[in-house]
Amino acid sequence: MNLLVIGSGGREHALVWKLAQSPHVTQMWCAPGNAGIQQEQTEKTKRPVECVNVGAEDLPKLLTFAQERKPDLTVVGPDNPLALGIVDLFQRNGQRIWGPNQKAAQFESSKVFSQEFMERHGIPTAKSGTFSDPATAKKFAGTLGGRCAVKADGLALGKGVLLTTNLAEVEKAIDEIMVGKVFGAAGTKIVIQEFLEGVEISLHALCDGKTARLFPAAQDHKRALDGDQGLNTGGMGTYSPAPFLGAAELEKVGEQILGPWLKGCAAEGIDFRGILYPGIMLTKNGPRVLEFNARFGDPEAQVYLTRLQNDLIELLDASVNGTLSKMELKWSPLASVCVVMASGGYPGSYAKGKPIRGLDDAARLSNVKVFHAGTARADEQIVTSGGRVLGVTAWAKNVRGARDAAYTAVEKIHFDGAHFRRDIAAKALQRVASGIPA
Ligand code: AMP
Repeated sequence: MNLLVIGSGGREHALVWKLAQSPHVTQMWCAPGNAGIQQEQTEKTKRPVECVNVGAEDLPKLLTFAQERKPDLTVVGPDNPLALGIVDLFQRNGQRIWGPNQKAAQFESSKVFSQEFMERHGIPTAKSGTFSDPATAKKFAGTLGGRCAVKADGLALGKGVLLTTNLAEVEKAIDEIMVGKVFGAAGTKIVIQEFLEGVEISLHALCDGKTARLFPAAQDHKRALDGDQGLNTGGMGTYSPAPFLGAAELEKVGEQILGPWLKGCAAEGIDFRGILYPGIMLTKNGPRVLEFNARFGDPEAQVYLTRLQNDLIELLDASVNGTLSKMELKWSPLASVCVVMASGGYPGSYAKGKPIRGLDDAARLSNVKVFHAGTARADEQIVTSGGRVLGVTAWAKNVRGARDAAYTAVEKIHFDGAHFRRDIAAKALQRVASGIPA
């Protein structure tokens, strides 16, 4: 099979790396890809993966490329092309493509749609309301005492959520989003949720329109700094398994969420083929969905795909064909940890073009894979070209071993201004003290 992968981050590098291992895959393109993706080759034919200089949101050019090269499947990584309707466009033009169509991608592209869907179908979520005028929004926020999550409806580069602790803060947040338009048109409507306390985990399920196959739990680290301080980011590191739920509990949580979600999709004619990624807060009153995403989490993909034992292309084929009920997911018993190395200043402004040293030393370590996110080639060097630069991922028989291996690799890599969290997986290790193995 020949494959086109769309995107350029750590998630797409992990997808390309895993797909390239399949004996079914002979040739791969990635649009636009990055310097790490460019170094991959298909295991079967030893052909280098070809990066194509077309942006992930340039739908007409992507379609033209697919029509010329005729991949057997196009695999979409990021949320934006899904929200723009790439799946519908490709299907209308007879191209096979993996990912949710535009209607299904609304679970991510509209928080108002998602929240109202959850209410309609009894999916456990935070107490919430959806609003298109600031005065009514403020009244509702008042009933929650100002302890709220205020969320812009549309996509805002993962930044469209403001957390508030009192009335003055929540009123300011509502005004910033709805009147000041800090997130642009994404803030025309908003969702307000009660502020939930608990442990936050990521769930992922591969779906084929009728069946949803749940992955093990993972935990992301959204804040920029240690101890969950600093600004929200696209994710600074992950690990899986996350030891906050046993296997039976995970299955129960999955059923509580995916059961009504699948029924709701059937009732509303939503044909979701792709990854559903609910962000969950495990509260003392049970699990609550904070939001849905309609694709792999970026750092989550890196830990999941280093643990997945199935041939990924067989799973994606089943997801497209609606035959997932015949497939079982198989996971390595090993744990994986991903530590993101970011540019100095991220998630604010940052410099690009800093040479990265030590990648070869890190690559020589066993059970380590350095996934590239914001990297590019400049002459003979690999340089930084984005906020999140690398996802340094390692696996071992438990989370502690994988964490230690990932940080050993991180220490080998250097670029000006590099910053990373030093406490990835610390919460899992604290659980060990309470008697639960990690
Ligand atoms: P979202 O994009 O909706 O997942 O929100 C981004 C981050 O804000 C989440 O990962 C949580 O850490 C936090 N968050 C979102 N909603 C809530 C909530 N209702 N209560 C507490 N924290 C929240």
